[in-house]
Amino acid sequence: MEFDKAKKYDYLIVGAGLFGATFAYLATQCGKSCLVIDKRNHIGGNCYTENVDGINIHKYGAHIFHTSNARVWKFVNKFAKFNDFVNSPKAYFKGKYFSLPFNMNTFHELWGVETSEEAQAKIAEQRLDIDEPKNLEEQALKLVGKDVYETLIKGYTEKQWGRDCKDLPAFIIKRLPLRFEYNNNYFNDVYQGIPVGGYTRMIEKMLAGADVRLGVDFAEIKDYQHDLARKTVYSGMIDEYFDFCLGKLQYRTLRFETERVDEKDFQASAVVNYTGRDVPYTRIIDHKRFEFGEQDFSIVTKEYPSEWKDGMEPYYPINNEENNALAKKYIELASKEQNVLFGGRLGTYSYLDMDKVIASAMDIADKELYDETV
Ligand code: UDP
Repeated sequence: MEFDKAKKYDYLIVGAGLFGATFAYLATQCGKSCLVIDKRNHIGGNCYTENVDGINIHKYGAHIFHTSNARVWKFVNKFAKFNDFVNSPKAYFKGKYFSLPFNMNTFHELWGVETSEEAQAKIAEQRLDIDEPKNLEEQALKLVGKDVYETLIKGYTEKQWGRDCKDLPAFIIKRLPLRFEYNNNYFNDVYQGIPVGGYTRMIEKMLAGADVRLGVDFAEIKDYQHDLARKTVYSGMIDEYFDFCLGKLQYRTLRFETERVDEKDFQASAVVNYTGRDVPYTRIIDHKRFEFGEQDFSIVTKEYPSEWKDGMEPYYPINNEENNALAKKYIELASKEQNVLFGGRLGTYSYLDMDKVIASAMDIADKELYDETV
């Protein structure tokens, strides 16, 4: 790809996902010129949605927007109208469905208990009594006890991460609420919804003031990045930026199998998690449910996690001790890199939700665009 080197932009933004698009919007609002590139042939990063016969397909897995950050919520609502979808996935284990997150509905389905006292007593009987859980298994056993762990957590987590629960960090399981009330809302956040018309359209609006070039691999222009722009804002893999010079970080990737089925009600919720090891995929998404579609057919996707290898799409950083230690070294290198800002899930090697990605892009933009001393 040839670029007009006569024009020097204020910012070269690598990655047209939420991080890059948020930064691009805030910079262009301040009168800065931005060139946004992406390796893929579309914008939106992993939030990308594609309209197929009136259904917005979440091409890289289910993305449900949720936040308690009022500034972030106000920001995304500039670019899209959000519906009132509430994520309440079901879990399937050995022929039975269970409610998520772990709440009174789940405990009733599992043990037949009716009151929160009964549920708490049941958990108290089987929970692990330790102060500081060292890993995900200990954390889960401490939180909810053996039955919930074995039915709803162990199999799913080991498929998702390809590692034993004893070798995974405790924080992953803390993402899920635990409630002693009948409430299947998967999130505790104040705001939640799906952008009507899909994420792609929303991100397109964020990028409206920038020049966007797709199908461009940063590796091919890295050597002359500073000829193209005064500064680079990089949201790709941090280890790849440095040519893996300190070694490779590990990531999980996903494979998706999507099909159209001639059934109006393929499954009774947008997301069904398959928590048993006997099923090879982790979840099935029924896309039309995110926007309450009335079509008499469904488009559904099975999600298969696996270890990331060269050439695959990285989705999740694997934040165990070993990887975090290596990531810290890359982050040190990044802090010394002149005129390059790093951000996003891949650029910081952290398991950030969409709202956290936007909030971090705002923080960086605030410093960069308004604080001349930085
Ligand atoms: N998890 C689980 N059972 C479930 C759903 C989630 O054990 O049915 C665990 C699993 O370890 C997973 C983590 O909780 O990686 C976080 O789940 P979340 O739904 O937040 O993951 P994401 O949507 O980001 O993949």
